[in-house]
Amino acid sequence: MKILLTGGAGYIGSHTAVALLEAGHDAAVVDNYSNSSPEAVRRAEQITGKEIRLYEADVADKNRMMEILRSEMPDCIIHFAGLKAVGESVAKPVEYYRNNIDTTLTLIECMKELGLSNIVFSSSATVYGEDNIPPFTENMPKGVCTNPYGWTKWMQEQILTDAWFASEKEVISWAKAHDGDAAASDSGRVRPRELSVVLLRYFNPVGAHESGMIGEDPQGIPNNLMPYISQVAVGRRDHLTVFGDDYDTPDGTCRRDYIHVMDLAEGHVKAAEYSLEHRGAEVFNLGTGNPYSVLDMVKAFGDACGHPVKYEIGPRRAGDVQDSWANADKAKEILGWEAKRGIAEICRDAWKWQSGNPNGYDR
Ligand code: NAD
Ligand code: UDP
Repeated sequence: MKILLTGGAGYIGSHTAVALLEAGHDAAVVDNYSNSSPEAVRRAEQITGKEIRLYEADVADKNRMMEILRSEMPDCIIHFAGLKAVGESVAKPVEYYRNNIDTTLTLIECMKELGLSNIVFSSSATVYGEDNIPPFTENMPKGVCTNPYGWTKWMQEQILTDAWFASEKEVISWAKAHDGDAAASDSGRVRPRELSVVLLRYFNPVGAHESGMIGEDPQGIPNNLMPYISQVAVGRRDHLTVFGDDYDTPDGTCRRDYIHVMDLAEGHVKAAEYSLEHRGAEVFNLGTGNPYSVLDMVKAFGDACGHPVKYEIGPRRAGDVQDSWANADKAKEILGWEAKRGIAEICRDAWKWQSGNPNGYDR
């Protein structure tokens, strides 16, 4: 398959590019490097020994995206491009809504004009909100998000689902107008095609490629737990602050479903392949189904790097949910995918990346 990855120079996109190439697919990347470096794509090429076509562009720039998509005509688009820092989204909501929603709207418009019909979207477990009780299943009602970033995911899921619904209706009325022959040609108009929308709700992507050549490279002070732990372990930061140890959990710290980024990447390969055969809008959790606490992860990382990771207990962080983990059965049943790597591999690979690249890609 020919697959185009928006935001493919980023953390999850670059690992997915490796997984796609290793599975025998062809990959092109569009990125504006607002939170990444082309170096990640070059390294993905080195790991696989295969070429990735790379375009520097803003996915919200419709003229440019029409040009790129017309030359690529991918079988599937995997839409990673977006801004993702929760705290920053509270300070800059309009920038987040503009970028994340605009990129999705632009892609849908371009796809329609070019007759492209398959899209896989990076959503998040954050859409389950605060009131659902884990393990989260895809048929639970979406919840109330606690920040603008979460709302952009919530809304993009809705926009893509509505676009699929309209595409289905359009195909039916086209078939009626052409005497039941949906494949009939109509000069001057692109024949409507029912969309395949695959919404992937990620849990907590962590770790790095086994080679240690690509990994997560946050700018500034990391917001997320695992890059923070890695930077303490490598000596870039003095200690981790654990946000609260008075939750109703076995050790008092919050629990999450940490998923190895290469497991997540392999889930995208399955989702892209599924999008070829499937029509409709379908949601899948990509998680392991196993919750681990903050202190579990601190301990596992210490084991992987050979020395304890220094930490202090601090107050709770506003907006944190106590528990979040997936029921991952649907992806196993329908996509034939399940996470294979555990927290020991996660910490081993994160440490290999961090210790080999203490300053990330040196952007
Ligand atoms: P990332 O920041 O590393 O990657 C996103 C990429 O998109 C970056 O390379 C950035 O430069 C690019 N980008 C942003 N806006 C763009 C635009 N307008 N045009 C072109 N490129 C643009 O983030 P990631 O962790 O790889 O996340 C990928 C996707 O998965 C994002 O949509 C994110 O919201 C989603 N997601 C991430 C997590 C996580 O914990 N990492 C969890 C759930 C969902
Ligand atoms: N966390 C922490 N210290 C940090 C960063 C995160 O204790 O410096 C905790 C956070 O409170 C949460 C867990 O680690 O319980 C995972 O946080 P992260 O931001 O990585 O993911 P999210 O909360 O978005 O699932």
